[in-house]
Amino acid sequence: MSAPAPKAPKAAPFLPYGRQVIEEDDIAAVCEALRGDFLTTGPLVGRFEAALAGAVRARHAVACANGTAALHMAARALALGPGTTVIVPSITFLATASAPHMNGAEIVFADVDPRSGLMRPQDLERALAGSGGADAVFNVHLNGACGEVEEIAEIARKSGLKIVDDACHALGTGYAASDGTDRLVGDNAYSDLTVFSFHPVKTITLGEGGAVSAEDAAIAAALLRARNHGMTRDPDEFAVEEAAFDAAGRVNPWYYELVEPGFNWRVTDIQCALGISQLAKLPRFAARRRALAAAYDTLLAPYGERLVPAARRSSVSPVLHLYAVLIDFEACGLSRGEVMRRLSAEGIGTQVHYFPVHRQRYYAERYGACDLPGADSYYARVLSLPLFPSMSMEDVERVSLALGRILGF
Ligand SMILES: *Cc1c(COP(=O)(O)O)cnc(C)c1O
Repeated sequence: MSAPAPKAPKAAPFLPYGRQVIEEDDIAAVCEALRGDFLTTGPLVGRFEAALAGAVRARHAVACANGTAALHMAARALALGPGTTVIVPSITFLATASAPHMNGAEIVFADVDPRSGLMRPQDLERALAGSGGADAVFNVHLNGACGEVEEIAEIARKSGLKIVDDACHALGTGYAASDGTDRLVGDNAYSDLTVFSFHPVKTITLGEGGAVSAEDAAIAAALLRARNHGMTRDPDEFAVEEAAFDAAGRVNPWYYELVEPGFNWRVTDIQCALGISQLAKLPRFAARRRALAAAYDTLLAPYGERLVPAARRSSVSPVLHLYAVLIDFEACGLSRGEVMRRLSAEGIGTQVHYFPVHRQRYYAERYGACDLPGADSYYARVLSLPLFPSMSMEDVERVSLALGRILGF
């Protein structure tokens, strides 16, 4: 009998580009919600909203089913429907454009900085000039970074544009404004509304979930209506008095009023139980994401020109959702697909964020070709490396070394 074969070294677990961190107390919080009286909208929804508003320093936060629903609610609350035009940077997830478009708005795509993927003030100016008059801009804090929001707000103010920040990547990101004030993404200092997503790959998760932060009480009320069929139960908002009130002026207890038809975009108490528990961990998750990103920065720095992290501004303190690098695949003599396949064979997941939305089949057919060279250049080089709080520093090292080896550095 031959000796038993030596055990193969244990393969490292597959590293996805992003994933959730769920701990025992998160699970306990969800179980407690399941034992409660409410499964859908109950007290935990309001508690999560208050905690989120506090965390991003906003006056109001309205939670909902997912980030796409949040974008759609933002479009509805700002009356961005048929006959309106919304400017959207081309490097984003589809939903930034599709949500206002599904509310009836037409989309004009803006270019981005080829080094960061973020829309620059001049990109907004150019999109505005070509739009024949736009009504809003949905700006995107790509990867969790943040562009020149003050200059963008200045252009928007002059042109009467509403600003919705798509901050689905950027929960926790802060920046120093030019007057020295510390700002948080979501505080709406330079926007009307800010949208978040709590999909499992995002910085905190509700399973599925989203939210909009707002400063204006009437807009917050419109967001609540947009979450719940476009109807109201608030007697102060009732317009059809003979149906809403009895002869003595008392509100009829069964009554609700349809303001404009809407969808059911509600979030559940079960989701919000998880959300409250996860949000309490945001400082820890943020610190961990920052430490992991700093480790990547250090390990990738020697690779030079052919591989650079997506550019970030020094005034911004991002909580990165994605660690995006820009690679000159041509100079390396390998296609991006091949690099992704070789990394995957070593248990390393990567993804491309994003194929420019102006090139997506539907939008290309609807609006024809657009000339957005910054978006094309960013797309040609971008690759998202694994980044999530439960990764180890050894994981970051393994990814960085594998990437350097595969690219021949
Ligand atoms: C995730 C994401 C969305 C959509 O959020 P869901 O919760 O998945 O619907 C929208 N915009 C951006 C930039 C995103 O990353």
